[in-house]
Amino acid sequence: MSRQLQAVRGMNDVLPEQIGAWQQLERVLCGLLHDYGYEEIRVPVVEHTELFKRSIGEFTDIVEKEMYTFEDSGGDSLTLRPEATAGVARALISNGLLRGARLKLWTAGPMFRHERPQAGRFRQFHQFSVEAVGFAGPDVDAELIALGARLWQRLGISRVRLVLNSLGTSAARAQYRSALQAYFQAHESALDGDSRRRLQGNPLRILDSKNPALRALIDGAPVLTDYLDDESRQHFDALRAMLDGIGVAYTINPRLVRGLDYYSRTVFEWITDALGAQDAVCSGGRYDGLISQLGGEATPAVGFALGIERVVELIRQAGTAAAARPPAVYVIASGAGAEARALALAEQLREALPGQGVHMNLGGGNFKAQFRRADRCGACLALILGDAELERGVAALKPLRREAGQSECPLADLPAQVGKMLQEESWTST
Ligand code: ATP
Ligand code: MG
Repeated sequence: MSRQLQAVRGMNDVLPEQIGAWQQLERVLCGLLHDYGYEEIRVPVVEHTELFKRSIGEFTDIVEKEMYTFEDSGGDSLTLRPEATAGVARALISNGLLRGARLKLWTAGPMFRHERPQAGRFRQFHQFSVEAVGFAGPDVDAELIALGARLWQRLGISRVRLVLNSLGTSAARAQYRSALQAYFQAHESALDGDSRRRLQGNPLRILDSKNPALRALIDGAPVLTDYLDDESRQHFDALRAMLDGIGVAYTINPRLVRGLDYYSRTVFEWITDALGAQDAVCSGGRYDGLISQLGGEATPAVGFALGIERVVELIRQAGTAAAARPPAVYVIASGAGAEARALALAEQLREALPGQGVHMNLGGGNFKAQFRRADRCGACLALILGDAELERGVAALKPLRREAGQSECPLADLPAQVGKMLQEESWTST
């Protein structure tokens, strides 16, 4: 026997028994995004490596060590996307969609980061990425956060809370950066290798370090809030007032900087204490400078990315995932003629009862085995056809969810009769 192939480490299969929570999240979030006026955009999973270097930033974990980068046979350096915002921004630029744009967009799909796999942290994971492009004011920041709050509510998830910060403009951040650099330089011997490298390149990244040994040092560092420019402060105050107005609770964390370089002003994270070491389930912020940095006309924008696997786990813990929906009818047939005719009857039922679920017994078996399958799949009704029934032009119908006898029905009347019986059984297709 040849060696069994394994999945790539950190890249998971989602099995049918797990898919309910995924579909529920997708259904609820797609519905909400529609309610808030967002439209879907789909962008490639592979982009030029340059795009991520220029947007996410050279001195980030992602670009320094987590990207799946390869050279294609044409000699181009390409990268599996580690996140979607850069690709969406690139798409708006390359399709000429920016002129005076007011775009509310979302996209979803797999992202790739070569991280150390552990619970809630994978190498292929999935995100919903939501972007509002062409809006400068704090109102859209507030609305995006409200959308998140409503999502948790609709999913029945309670163990999440909102953390906010403002990073100010890039000018304000430059000042802060000098102060931070001076502080960490004075403590250089206490830094780890990554942080020492970032000290010159981008000292803000040190704040984002996940090394617990640096915690105390980071806690003592100057805070960005003290360096905020007036306009950013006003933007932040207005956002907070709006959140108070719509009743979304938050805490401010002056250390929240986010792991990507392109953010400015508002940054936020929905965090949970239910997933162990991985606390961020949805993270976002304003990226007013990103589009011009990528060569597009200067356009303010704000967005968030939601980690689907982590939210799916919260749904699982909350026990609110919709169960798999059983079929309305299971078609049982025995005998060569009856089996062929039953296949056609099942097609007629699917035509007459869209969305209800009509499972045909496939692969034969005696009546007893077929009834067992019908029962196991949770169907509401069994339709039974043997050669004897077929000769008389009838089929039998039997409710399966309660003790009940069989009744006969002329083949021509089946779609109507099945519909009627499903109603009597109070069967709903949703
Ligand atoms: P973390 O601090 O957990 O590394 P991050 O700041 O890198 O998260 P973003 O890049 O902002 O996260 O991605 C948005 C969301 O995607 C995160 O809040 C998280 O829910 C999810 N996410 C990020 N990386 C992973 C991963 N490797 N596996 C699973 N989910 C992830
Ligand atoms: Mg990360």
